Amino acid sequence: MRYPFFRCRVSDLDEGDIVNVTCRRCGHSGTLTRAQLLSKVRSQKLKMNSITADTFIKNLGRNLTCWPCAKEGVFHDDYEISITPINPPPENPDVIRLKNTQLERMKGESDAKFLRRIRNA
Ligand SMILES: [Zn+2]
Repeated sequence: MRYPFFRCRVSDLDEGDIVNVTCRRCGHSGTLTRAQLLSKVRSQKLKMNSITADTFIKNLGRNLTCWPCAKEGVFHDDYEISITPINPPPENPDVIRLKNTQLERMKGESDAKFLRRIRNA
């Protein structure tokens, strides 16, 4: 997973990332791998509302069918979705910049100089 969950698309998954899906209605849960999702991308190319490489993982519920629910004749898109990444996602660049700023400050910069630099950054 190359991005945080909220902006992670199918194409951003890494080999080994696991997408966990739990049905909020019946509690049935399952997992999807990158390869499974990409095979859906290929097979659903011509369908309406199909999964594409650009589909956000968080919006995947629209494309899923819970089989226990479907057997009861209920079709819905209410799923709890999360990703178990093989590698931890990279940190937000803004947070990294802030951490570096704080680190520099700890090296003994005066308050006035620090504030001036922050303002001009
Ligand atoms: Zn269900």
